[in-house]
Amino acid sequence: MTKIKEGIPTVSVFGVPVCKWGMKDTVAHLADAVAGKVPHHVITANPIMMMAAIENPEYKAMMQTAELIVADGTGLVWAAQKGGDPVAERVPGYELLHELMKQGERRGWKVYLLGSAPDVVKETARRLALQYPGTTIAGYRDGYFGPDQDPKVIDEIVKAAPDLLFVARGADTQEPWIAKYKDVLRVPVMMGVGGSFDVISGRTKRAPMAFRKLRLEWLYRLLKEPTRFRRMLALPKFAVRVLREKENLTKMG
Ligand code: UDP
Repeated sequence: MTKIKEGIPTVSVFGVPVCKWGMKDTVAHLADAVAGKVPHHVITANPIMMMAAIENPEYKAMMQTAELIVADGTGLVWAAQKGGDPVAERVPGYELLHELMKQGERRGWKVYLLGSAPDVVKETARRLALQYPGTTIAGYRDGYFGPDQDPKVIDEIVKAAPDLLFVARGADTQEPWIAKYKDVLRVPVMMGVGGSFDVISGRTKRAPMAFRKLRLEWLYRLLKEPTRFRRMLALPKFAVRVLREKENLTKMG
């Protein structure tokens, strides 16, 4: 059953409210958030994060505090459809990042990049500034720091006062980190982007078009990085869960 949460139509997938909008509406909403300076923690969810939510109540509660959760993974789009309440389309995090940069280009937004290795985030900042000269890269720093450094990192971001904050630190770290500090950060768009800086900087390649067309990006990544195998078991596990509980998966709180 579709619910409207703060003006956003959502479908609950195992108790996680997933936005039903496609890319265009999502970007329009976030552009309004920037104009009105309304802080949003945006989660681009995939089956790995959904399994984390199913298995860990704390992770699920954290996800439920996000202002906007979009369906990044094909598996999540499929789950909503199986549950009888489909979302419009996939909203891939990597593409959403670029769509937001395009908006920023037209509107002169400030952007802060946090995460990945020092050389990767530096090169990402350089390339994004070249590709979107209408934006300002208000600051950047790598993602290898412990909780003791949080106050300093947050202070830097608050001083930079960006419109967009992209955090690239891996899903198990970046989302709880944003959730914990969003009330201090108060950036209109705070979004975890996982391995995106590695791709933007040229450190890793996106899956070739053939894999993307067949929706097999996960297989390409698995072939390139076999150590991802254990994490990837979340995909079939999630699929089994969806099929087993499809009658009530959209009714769970
Ligand atoms: N990363 C980071 N700090 C950390 C761990 C990871 O900045 O403590 C960065 C890493 O360099 C990479 C990104 O987070 O650019 C995503 O890492 P990974 O692919 O391991 O995470 P996933 O997206 O698979 O959860």
